[in-house]
Formats: sequence, C-alpha cells, structure tokens
Amino acid sequence: MDNNRRAKLDSYFKAFSVLSDGNYVFICDMQEDVSRWSKSAVDYFDLPDEYMQNAGSIWEEHIHPDDREKYRSDIAALFAGSSEGHVLQYRARARDGNYVACTCKGTVLKNENGEPEYFGGSIKNHGLLSYIDTVTGLRSMYGFLDDVKSICWNYQVSNIILLGISSFSQINDMYGYNFGNSVLRELGNTIVKNFGSKCSFYRMDGPKFAVITNKLSTDELDEIYREFKISITQNFYVDGEKIIISMNAGLVTVDNFSLSSDTIVSCLKYAYYESKERKLGEMFRFQNRINDDNKHYIEKINMIRTSVIEGCKGFFLCYQPIINAENEELKGMEALLRWHNDEYGIVPPDQFIPVLEQDALFPKLGNWILKQAMLDGKVIVDKYPDFIVNVNISYAQLQHKHFLTNLFHLLNETGFPSKNLCLELTERCRLLDIDMLKSLFSKIKMGGIKVALDDFGTGFSSIGVLRVLDIDTIKVDREYVKNIEQSETDKNTVKCISNLAGTFSADICVEGVETSNMRDILKGYDVRSYQGYYYSKPIRFEDFKKKYL
Ligand code: C2E
Ligand code: CA
Ligand code: CA
Repeated sequence: MDNNRRAKLDSYFKAFSVLSDGNYVFICDMQEDVSRWSKSAVDYFDLPDEYMQNAGSIWEEHIHPDDREKYRSDIAALFAGSSEGHVLQYRARARDGNYVACTCKGTVLKNENGEPEYFGGSIKNHGLLSYIDTVTGLRSMYGFLDDVKSICWNYQVSNIILLGISSFSQINDMYGYNFGNSVLRELGNTIVKNFGSKCSFYRMDGPKFAVITNKLSTDELDEIYREFKISITQNFYVDGEKIIISMNAGLVTVDNFSLSSDTIVSCLKYAYYESKERKLGEMFRFQNRINDDNKHYIEKINMIRTSVIEGCKGFFLCYQPIINAENEELKGMEALLRWHNDEYGIVPPDQFIPVLEQDALFPKLGNWILKQAMLDGKVIVDKYPDFIVNVNISYAQLQHKHFLTNLFHLLNETGFPSKNLCLELTERCRLLDIDMLKSLFSKIKMGGIKVALDDFGTGFSSIGVLRVLDIDTIKVDREYVKNIEQSETDKNTVKCISNLAGTFSADICVEGVETSNMRDILKGYDVRSYQGYYYSKPIRFEDFKKKYL
C-alpha cells in the first residue's frame, strides 16, 4: 500500500475514532482491501494486527458459525456496491474462546466516480452473551438454544411451545416503549403462572415466549393453553389498564435427538405461523400437519435443511410446459422444485417449502432455484428468443433484503435475458409491507422482468394485490377449473376472472388442464395460455429438451 493511501486510511481512522463513543473502530480501504482496526479490538479478539489485509475473512473466522451466512452476504453486497452500509448483530469469539454479542454499524464512502472506496464504522461489544432477558427476567433466546441442544444430548423427549401475541407493535405505538416492556413482563409472569413448575420459560424475539417441558403431555399442554388463552383474552391488566391481546401458539414434540436445534426452531416457527394465520390462535401441533404414515416428518425436514447447507445437494427442477392458447404452441415453462434422497425417494415441494419459508436458509435455496432455472432456460431461449421461464418465488424470499441484488446478479452471471423471466408470486406476498412491495415491484418491472400472480382466487385479498401491483399474468388455480366440464359455477368463475384480468390489463393462464374437453371449454373464454397434465406433467429438463427442442 503506498504512503498516500496509508495516510488517508489513518486519517479516516482518526475521524471515525472521534465519533466512536468508546466502541471499536474499523476502516477498510476497499480498493486495496487493507484495513485498520482499533488496538483494543485486536487485543480482545486476538486479531493478527491493527493493519490487516483481507480483514473481512479474518473477522469472519471469529463470527459464530450460525451468524456467518448473514455477515457474508452483507459484506458481499457492500463490496459489490449494492449496499451503502449495514447494521448487523452477531456473536464474535473473543481471545478466551467465549462468544460476545456485537452490533456492527458501518457505512461505505464512495470515490468521485461513485465506486465504493472506504468502508468504516464501529463495533459495539455487548459483553458476554446474556442468558437472562433483562425485560422479563426469564431465560433468553440464547438460553433456549442451549437448552434445546441439551435436550438432544440427553435424549429427553420434550414438548416445546412457541407462544406470543399478534399486535404487540400496536401496543408499543399506542402506549409507548416503557409500557410495552411492562406488558411483556406481565405476560411473562402470566405464562409462568399458568403453565406452572413443570416447565422452563424463555423470552424469545419480540413478543414471543417459549415453554419447554418433559413432564407434561401434548394433551395436558393443549388444555392449559386453551384455558390460558381464554383467561388472558378476557382479563389482562397492566398498570390497571385492560389490554386486549390475541395469543398464538405452535407446538413441536422432540423425540428424535439427531435433529439440529435450527430444524426444531424452523418447525416451531412454522407451527406458530400456522396457528396465527390459519387457526385463529388455536395451538397448532407440528405433527398435525401430516398423517401417521409420515411420522418421520421432522427428520425429513432436518435432512432437507442439511442438503441446503451442503450446497443444495439432492434438489432438482422439473419443468412443465406453458402452452399458447391461440395456436397450441409452446410458450414457456414453469420450474417446479423436487428433492430426492435414497431413503425418502422424490419429495414434492408442498412437503417442505412451507416449513423452510421461515428459515434463514431459504434464500440460499431460492437463489439455487433461480440460477438453475436460468441456466436451463438459457439453452431454450438461445433458440427461441420469446420463450418465457416461470420461477416460483415465496414471499419470504421477497422479504430478504438482498433479493433484488441477488436476482440481478444471477441474470448477469448466467446471461439470461430479464425479459424472458417471469416471477410467480402468490397472494401471500400481501403479508409484506405494501410500500416495500410497491418499491420492489417497480424495480423488478424496471429490470424488464415479468410477474405472474399464482393460485389466483385461493387467498383473501386477490383484488387488493391486483389493484396496487402491476401484474402481467394471472394464473387461475386448478381448484376453479377442476370441475369445469360439469359445473356452471366454474365456467362463470373463469369468465369472471378473465373480465377482471382485462380490467387490470393482465393475461390469464389456466392451470390444471387435464383433458381436451376442458381445453375446448376454456376456448370460449379469453384465456391466453394453458398448463396441465393434458399437455405434460412436470418433467426433467433432459426430457423437456427431447420433447420440445
Ligand atoms: P404451483 O405453483 O401452483 O404449481 C403447480 C402444481 O400443480 C405443480 O405441483 C404441478 O405438478 C401441479 N399440476 C400441474 N398441472 C396439473 C394438472 O393438470 N393436474 C394436477 N392434478 N396437478 C397439476 P408441484 O410441482 O407439486 O408444486 C406444488 C407447489 O409447490 C407449487 O404450486 C408451488 O406453490 C410450490 N413450488 C414448487 N416449486 C417451487 C419453487 O421452486 N419455489 C417455491 N417458492 N415454490 C415452489
Ligand atoms: Ca406456480
Ligand atoms: Ca399455481
């Protein structure tokens, strides 16, 4: 590094130090990838030197393995110029081998050409991981994760419940933060009182709590929860104020001890959201989702998670043709995910996507799907420039802050033209903040990418989504055409949706076309494309090429 750049690095370091408020300071010359860090950080974390080449990778070694993925993707976005700064929490390993909780705040300084030149900021050391939540006095999420691990080590069959309230942010908005804390404290107390001494209790993130027990059965817990839910809905007072809250709860029974604690947490979150979104807060037992023949469901999820970690091993895509209704020619294809394993055979996506959606791993799988579909699609697009490749995107993927960066990066990397890509979203995306959704949409559309609304009619507010978002294609769910041969209602529904689509200048694609007779009926309506077993089931890419190229 030349002297000028070194001097500049040092002067930035000084400037940041003045503002650091006692936190560690770092400054990185992004062009040379040379950094200077506070001496106190070097000592505390046992780093090689105050000046370090490639400090990002050195620091990554100190970050807790569970927090690395997030750290890595944030740093990559900063260096790629797609992010201007970050605030990140992670655990970092100190000299003595223990982890401390840290908050890192950093910002990018650009040169006159607008390229990232320096990345600097501060790291706050919150001290040793706290196993006690300061608001409620209960064990914290770190305590929870440790205890789940020890359940597995000790082979203790246990029931775990994740429970919480729906509208905590409104309580905070209405009464203020301090009162919000009182609500959490009181809620914690009430949970402890109701579930009793046979359980351990934890404060999780936000307004969520966890209960672990190896002494109460699921039926007993169900009963306790039911009574608790009724009483708390009717009688919950904080500082003399009656608070209206609605509870949700998800339950997972741990009776297999080779599961990772992350798998257990994913299943708990899934059960919690099922309770919240579909069961009006009634306790949802994870095992309920499947029938008896699927007793090993959690193990399967555990294996699938491991496959994602191991570079999406065992996953593959099948493709189903999308047919132009006018001339019955091939118009495009939809990518549909499968997972294969010797023990379980080929597993369809319905069995694992809903559980993995809440998982921090999902974006990794989502990117793999996008990339694979682009690589395969490119082979066809090179020959047929109007060919469209549809890829399903889960709402949790959209929520991820690097979704767009990754998407455009993948288009670049694979050379797949954005105009040939269509993202299929479901109405679940309405769960996202509407302003965020609009801004995402405008960037997707500006990039030339098409958007389809999948499973139209199965959700709550289909028209709401259509009104605010610029959708190219509406995909009519199979449910609405299944009986079209006999049912006048189904015919009218398709007619109605096609009128509606016209109003929003969207095309219609009908799914689940299984017979020529169904197709003939659909010809009477303004349907632009068909998809269904009549044309082809989803098939592997090799077979797709043989059949259509
Ligand atoms: P979807 O997007 O509505 O996909 C259509 C599903 O209907 C596919 O099931 C397909 O095999 C099936 N299907 C197509 N034509 C017919 C027909 O004529 N008759 C019948 N009975 N079924 C037909 P599959 O592949 O099991 O996918 C199920 C769902 O899983 C998909 O529903 C989609 O919501 C989700 N999914 C699949 N792949 C992905 C993916 O890569 N990412 C995400 N986020 N979700 C995916
Ligand atoms: Ca779809
Ligand atoms: Ca669909």
